[in-house]
Amino acid sequence: MTLPVWQTELDDAAGAVLTVDLGALRANYLWLAAAVAPAACAAVVKADAYGLGAAAVAPVLYRAGCRDFFVAHLSEAVALRPLLPADAALMVLNGLQPGTDAACAAAGAVPVLNSLEQAESWADFGLREGRRLPAVVQLDTGMSRLGLPPDEFDALLAQPKRLAALDVVLAMSHLACSDEPGHPANAAQHRCFSRLLERLPGTRVSFANSGGILLDRSFHHDLARPGVALYGVNPTPDAAHGLRPVVRLDARVIQLRTIPAGTAVGYGAAFVAARPSRIATIAVGYADGWPRHLGGAGAAYVDGVRLPIAGRVSMDSITLDVTDLPEGRLRRGSTVELLGPHQSLDQVAAEAGTIPYEILTGLGHRYARRILDASNEGTPP
Ligand SMILES: *Cc1c(COP(=O)(O)O)cnc(C)c1O
Repeated sequence: MTLPVWQTELDDAAGAVLTVDLGALRANYLWLAAAVAPAACAAVVKADAYGLGAAAVAPVLYRAGCRDFFVAHLSEAVALRPLLPADAALMVLNGLQPGTDAACAAAGAVPVLNSLEQAESWADFGLREGRRLPAVVQLDTGMSRLGLPPDEFDALLAQPKRLAALDVVLAMSHLACSDEPGHPANAAQHRCFSRLLERLPGTRVSFANSGGILLDRSFHHDLARPGVALYGVNPTPDAAHGLRPVVRLDARVIQLRTIPAGTAVGYGAAFVAARPSRIATIAVGYADGWPRHLGGAGAAYVDGVRLPIAGRVSMDSITLDVTDLPEGRLRRGSTVELLGPHQSLDQVAAEAGTIPYEILTGLGHRYARRILDASNEGTPP
């Protein structure tokens, strides 16, 4: 049983309540950690823990045993540092922006060195400071996004003085197609990574994101780096998993009306009632991260009944066709389910023509947030 421990604002005043279940988050971490053991399991908490609130998420994961945290920006590491004990590593995936070496060191963050330029800058900073600085080295194995391409890796290895100034705590690479287990890029990247790693013997290694964890053990190496799976999204459609949903979203009804057949609803008169209809206007719109692409396509749920979106998604509201619900079931102030047992992030993403990552990270800032305590936390393994 999980209990709300704190609320960020008055639920009643907000257009919707976003519930974050920290018990489910913890269970997902433990499931992933068991799946990769004896490898260790990190947590990717970039983008405010995929929109769920890194300040609430990261300490729960620490208490579940996580000691390696990845963010994208140095600013995210700076914000999280005081919330985590000193033995938690905070690694910055985007690496070093020019002129940020001192700030990164002062924050106690570990940069992911993605290019020769970043590696040289960090090594030279360490040489000037007279200390060996921790660093993650990312190798590009075929994604061409971030990471040292093979020629830059060669160039770095040819500079023993700079190399000696770096305490390489981790060598990592990232998979481009981990959500497609049969994609030949997975094996190709694996071969490429293995070849490059021969030149960094003894270094701790990380390769798998959420999808990579579900590929096979050969991708687990020493440290897995799940993000989206922690937050309850199955990274590999069709793969079996033991992940629990972490978020639910309930939107409030602002107004109800009954309209005769032939009446238009919303912007562009994009919906015209084919039958006498009841329309509920709810207080969530595209400004809250609910995709405008769901106009005429998406739905909300009440008592398991699908309530289609009638017409376009507005900035601050959505009109639902609630004719199929018993009259009187909804009133002003009632809530409808946008995310929950009847509608998953995957479903919403599919209907909006995007991926669950985008729905999750786009969830807005106007929601009341109800944080369910990880009350079954117990002692870490
Ligand atoms: C975002 C990210 C992850 C986490 O990916 P998921 O698919 O959410 O598990 C891991 N590694 C890197 C380099 C990333 O950018």
